[in-house]
Amino acid sequence: MTGSTKRRTASPESLEDKFKELEVLYEAFERATAPFVVQAVCGPGCADCCTNVGEIYAATLEALRIARYMEALPVFQAAVLRQKIAENRVQKKRALLLPCPFLDPQKLCAIYPVRPFSCRRLYSVEPCGVKGPVVHREFWALAEQFTRALQALDPRGYSGHLSYVLGLLEDPFFREAYVANRAYPATLGSVLREFDLLAHTRLGV
Ligand code: SF4
Repeated sequence: MTGSTKRRTASPESLEDKFKELEVLYEAFERATAPFVVQAVCGPGCADCCTNVGEIYAATLEALRIARYMEALPVFQAAVLRQKIAENRVQKKRALLLPCPFLDPQKLCAIYPVRPFSCRRLYSVEPCGVKGPVVHREFWALAEQFTRALQALDPRGYSGHLSYVLGLLEDPFFREAYVANRAYPATLGSVLREFDLLAHTRLGV
């Protein structure tokens, strides 16, 4: 096999490296946007974004990190979350606005340490009310820039609504191929269409 045709196999370490790079990206975004976010009126228990936005996006790399985080939770807690995610997928097909399945009864995030970038880029300098969040223009430009960097970090990934990307990872053949950097199963196309997921390569990476 020549160097150009040799298939690169990702070791589990390289996936861990990707998770570390993801964390570095989140931290860099937090640092870059701190002068804007310091003006936010948001606080624990507000959850307006988690309740009223309806679309929480995730990249495959982020969703895999969330799936692993859930797998390390107590069995009952993980089962409840899986059930809520499955219900969210069904309801999402019928309604536009849904609370996030990870929002707990105290209005706190059940996966806060590994929440996706889509949540990290939400804040408001005024109470949201009916008009929604008010953000700085410069913050928004930075968020778009970091979104592209995130997609570049995950070139074989797909983006879409969080519960849909988690659904994609519930397919053991897809998950195995994604983790091992192998060719995806032939059934992938129909799953992508069902969940309205977009390849990062189609998003300009
Ligand atoms: S993942 Fe967490 S922070 Fe993001 S919308 Fe859901 S509850 Fe809110």
